[in-house]
Amino acid sequence: MRSARNERGASSRGAAPANNSTATRPTAKASSKLQDRRFDDKRPRRRTTGRPHPTRRPTQSPPCRLPLAAIGVAAIMALAIITGAFAQSLPVNIMFNGQPLEVRGARTLADALEASGFEPRPGDLIAVDGSIIEAGKGEPFRAFINGQTEKDLGRVLSNGDTIEVSDGGPTEEPSDIEEAPIPYTISSEGSGPIHVLEDQGSDGLRRIKTGRVSGLVVEITVREPHNATRRNVSPDVGDDKVIALTFDDGPWHDTTGEVLDVLRDHGAKATFFTVGNRIEGEGADVMKRAASEGHQICTHTYSHASGSGKSVDLGLMTPEEQADEIDQGLAAIESAIGGEASRIVRAPGGNYGDDVVRAIGPKITAEIGWDIDAQDWRRPGASVIADEIKGAWPGAIVLLHDGGGDRSQTVEALKEALPYLKDQGYRFVTIDELMRYPLV
Ligand SMILES: [Zn+2]
Repeated sequence: MRSARNERGASSRGAAPANNSTATRPTAKASSKLQDRRFDDKRPRRRTTGRPHPTRRPTQSPPCRLPLAAIGVAAIMALAIITGAFAQSLPVNIMFNGQPLEVRGARTLADALEASGFEPRPGDLIAVDGSIIEAGKGEPFRAFINGQTEKDLGRVLSNGDTIEVSDGGPTEEPSDIEEAPIPYTISSEGSGPIHVLEDQGSDGLRRIKTGRVSGLVVEITVREPHNATRRNVSPDVGDDKVIALTFDDGPWHDTTGEVLDVLRDHGAKATFFTVGNRIEGEGADVMKRAASEGHQICTHTYSHASGSGKSVDLGLMTPEEQADEIDQGLAAIESAIGGEASRIVRAPGGNYGDDVVRAIGPKITAEIGWDIDAQDWRRPGASVIADEIKGAWPGAIVLLHDGGGDRSQTVEALKEALPYLKDQGYRFVTIDELMRYPLV
């Protein structure tokens, strides 16, 4: 192409004959010549001299093809640059805050603002508590281009863009953020001996922001806690004469076996709140026997809250220690009886305060207190203990001990009280059986 143009140029200007050796050598000047030529086209051309055209030999054309192609590409590129430059100098037509607007220059968002005459008012720099630290030092403007937030004034606009610009909003100072839980609370309803955690609680979350500029501290509630409800209920047994005998602190040497003998002799079922470390070893067999005879085997913790719990109160232990007391107590039962342990629990000393509820409540079905404390651990005499047991009423839970010391009085009291109550029409059931009644 280049040679063709040169040839045409040469012929029209009457310049020197086309030199094919020059024409086939593409140079950087090709495109500039082309540009010169294009703009020269508007000028009047010189007349031809009338000199005859040099004769071209057709055999010289084929070697020119490849260079001609290269020159063509260069020419197209040059045209593209020129066209692009021309296009860039054109204004764009946009919609600015609902009005058509022509934007010239670099056609940026800044140009659009200038063209519109709209001067957005910057927002304020505010502290973490919302007070103004410095007016006009917040967000400089608020802009949306085709619905998308745009903060860059240098953003180049296109034809048809829809721009919405308004005053800047407040900007909050940088801050340091800490998060902390909001502990859930436990409300208590009723006064029965069966303690069921309803609506298990979950902690909320608060965020504490300290402004780096103002130094102000604010607290924000991110999530409210979900508070728990502890229902303290009793079984509504109606006319059923059922009593739940419960035995704590075992298994214990001979006593637990003797208690099992008395229960067997009277067709009674009972619930044993065991101490895990007493089951391990010599206690395993008697617990296996108790389970096989239909009694309910529950945990009274692994070590009766020994150590930091002072052998009486899980609440003196850490939440992790409390959870371990339950987990290990259950594991000791399961290893002895070869089955799943009941999730009915009695806390040592009956100490089931909110801290303990929080730590072990979600792990268990219910914590069991009592209606009658026979005070057998004081060893007041078998007949005194028997009288306490005899005072039971339908649905009553009776607290006794098969471990923790010499419980021979307890065994003797059972031998007296059980036949007496049976004669009254009572039968003796486990806690699970008692909990099948409506709990009110
Ligand atoms: Zn105990």
